[in-house]
Amino acid sequence: MTELRLVGTRPEPDATNGIFVGGRWVLGASGKTLEARNPATGALVGTMAAGNAQDVDRAVAAARRAAQSGWGTASGLERGRVLAAVAAAIRAAAPDLARLEATDTGKPLAEAEGDIAAAARYFEFYAGAADKIHGQSFTDPEGRLAVVERIAHGVTGHIIPWNYPAQMLGRSVAPALAMGNACVLKPAEDACLVPLRLAEIACDAGLPAGALNVVPGKGAVAGAALSAHPDLDAIAFIGSPEVGALVQIAAARNHIGCTLELGGKSPHILCADADLDTAIAAIVANIVQNAGQTCSAGSRVLCEAALLDEVGARLRIAFGTLIAGAPEAGSDLGPLISLTQKRRVERYCRQAEADGIPLIAEGKIAPDAPAAGHFVAPRAYGPVPPEHILARDEIFGPILSIQTFEGDAEAVKLANDTEYGLVANIWSQDTARAMRIARALKVGQVFINGYGAGGGVELPFGGMKGSGHGRSKGLEALYAMSTTRTLILDLNAPVL
Ligand code: NAP
Ligand code: MG
Repeated sequence: MTELRLVGTRPEPDATNGIFVGGRWVLGASGKTLEARNPATGALVGTMAAGNAQDVDRAVAAARRAAQSGWGTASGLERGRVLAAVAAAIRAAAPDLARLEATDTGKPLAEAEGDIAAAARYFEFYAGAADKIHGQSFTDPEGRLAVVERIAHGVTGHIIPWNYPAQMLGRSVAPALAMGNACVLKPAEDACLVPLRLAEIACDAGLPAGALNVVPGKGAVAGAALSAHPDLDAIAFIGSPEVGALVQIAAARNHIGCTLELGGKSPHILCADADLDTAIAAIVANIVQNAGQTCSAGSRVLCEAALLDEVGARLRIAFGTLIAGAPEAGSDLGPLISLTQKRRVERYCRQAEADGIPLIAEGKIAPDAPAAGHFVAPRAYGPVPPEHILARDEIFGPILSIQTFEGDAEAVKLANDTEYGLVANIWSQDTARAMRIARALKVGQVFINGYGAGGGVELPFGGMKGSGHGRSKGLEALYAMSTTRTLILDLNAPVL
């Protein structure tokens, strides 16, 4: 559990007790700090300011200043150069950042390294895009010349979760900055250390003061204050559907736009003609990635009924070798982020067992795993009835639900039969069949015969239904982080 603790003296502000506002560290208004613990060991790895509404006010004011001058008025070329410098600075600091991310989130170092590289890649991609946003011009039916300028919102709010803090910062903030917005970011209280450090690195690399401000703190305090702030022009939220709804309500009260990237219950549709060697390896690797704490995790396997025994046997072999444990001990998956998340995942497993759902495959927790670590053994259950919570809820842990189907229509029905609609995966050697199924799915991304959770930086990403709305990544994110102003010149008007 994270605890509040009073800072006795008023030391110099830094990343351990400050909020990053206007290009420097400023002591949080409450003077209180939160603890950051390593979920693999329970060890204290740092402290951070418990930001509150006053801190959010200061951050939004600093962002407003940056949006109105400096950053907001810089050319796309200038913004692109700065973002490229930020990308290079992140790469230069990558070894330290990856170690910090691994200790703060408990994820294996190799995964943390991948996350830092992805964060740099977001800044690089949007650096390249910043001077290529050209708007439109056309002549309307009345002969008037319309010039559609694509312009920044102004000040954008960003609330991100704990599962991929570095990547989420890059994904949310880099396109906003590329458009000329100034940003206020509230990272998750369970993973603040790298976002705070990244803001400082970005500023040192040349991002002007106030263009990126970070207020750590509790969601119900700092997050709620940010989402309700009357001087925001748009807000982007990544996290749970429940909090996403609160953020959208707050945005609606302020009449501002809101993009929501919520969870998923994404299916693998495993057709009888699939290349099972490739498919099973990808399915297992994907549910193990970040211990299943990935919004685009393929957490359901819909397999053609004839395949059930074969798939069960292969999963038993694959899961049988999986070890959850301390990342440095060479385990396959690290801990969950917190005791709360571990208990939540274990509740789902107990419920499945109480309801008589067969446990098809199971991994292990390493015998020498630290007792204070939040480890969960990976498991696969099935067949799971479509109405069971195991087939419907986002568990956010290394738990697979197996369901069966007969024929493509049933595959599509089952795939679409959850509140979510983020991504899907189709495994079939009949590409035309896979394309037909893909086009019937209510999801934002479909992978065919290969799976990279969430796709790359270049690919538009986001959900349908309960998985949210609006798109991040790719050039689409630039549209979400901007609006238009249309100038109409009446060429036929008499000259006075
Ligand atoms: P969450 O509560 O939605 O957290 C996401 C972000 O929202 C965090 O920065 C959080 O801050 C903040 N927040 C919390 N309450 C808020 C409020 N009232 N107003 C504004 N911001 C607020 O998610 P969680 O509790 O960490 O995880 C719960 C479930 O969400 C997971 O089990 C999973 O199903 C889903 N989830 C999805 C994603 C995704 O990538 N789509 C990521 C993470 C979680 P604090 O952390 O400081 O509370
Ligand atoms: Mg932590």
